[in-house]
Amino acid sequence: FDISITFYRRYQERIEQMKLIEEENRRTKAALEVKSQFLSTVSHELRTPLTSIIGSLELVRNNALGDMPDNMKPIIGIAAKNSQRLAALIEDLLDVQKIEAGEMRFHFETLCANALVHEAVDSSAGFASRLGIPVKVIDRAGGARIRGDRNRLIQVLNNLLSNALKFSDKGGVVTVCSEVVGQRVRISVRDEGLGIPENSEECVFGKFSQIDSSDIRKVGGTGLGLNISRQIMNHHDAELRYESELGVGTTFYMDFDGVAEESDKAA
Ligand code: ADP
Repeated sequence: FDISITFYRRYQERIEQMKLIEEENRRTKAALEVKSQFLSTVSHELRTPLTSIIGSLELVRNNALGDMPDNMKPIIGIAAKNSQRLAALIEDLLDVQKIEAGEMRFHFETLCANALVHEAVDSSAGFASRLGIPVKVIDRAGGARIRGDRNRLIQVLNNLLSNALKFSDKGGVVTVCSEVVGQRVRISVRDEGLGIPENSEECVFGKFSQIDSSDIRKVGGTGLGLNISRQIMNHHDAELRYESELGVGTTFYMDFDGVAEESDKAA
């Protein structure tokens, strides 16, 4: 009889504990939802006035309102650059929210790996030439194809390219290569820049994290780009990783399953 009473009490205690845990989980989930809703609303609300500020500054810079006095040019330039930075941060915040809420939509199609590379390199050409760093493209993939969302993959490639350019402070070349490795199609972005210290994976792919906190002042950035990029790649069942050596350089790899010729014909 004693044994059954003890057993019953323990059973009751366990049920109470489970109820508490359940309640705690419910509250945490509700708090996360409020946080996510808040961030998303604030980001949207910031975007509209910022777009208007960027547009107005562009009008001034293009002398649409009459010639801008020379002494105003640097300060207007700084304002324009910083509003662009703010706009990039807001876009990144919105992307993180969308991915985490499972609301990012992907439009999958069959894409030529090398064409993607060219598209991304073309769109980064202005940034590369401003920094004076040559970008070399190597096509070893022939016409190899992958399944993916064009705009999102260009976003990942642009992020890798802009990092490679930003962290190539002592010059060198940035090389973007597409190739077939076994069953996989690989796109790699290599720089001859600063390199990344060992065991920095969490920092590199984490949210708001940068290896050197002074990076933000020297080269700008939000610390969100690679977090978003990795999540986009996960949605493609594809891998994003890097190899790096301090003072020598870094290579980021995007590895996809290739699309077989036959399945293409069947589609
Ligand atoms: P952001 O570039 O906006 O700071 P990312 O998420 O793209 O954010 O990158 C996170 C951090 O990883 C960077 O701040 C930098 O410290 C490091 N990193 C990324 N790419 C490179 C690279 N090619 N070379 C050296 N460090 C890099």
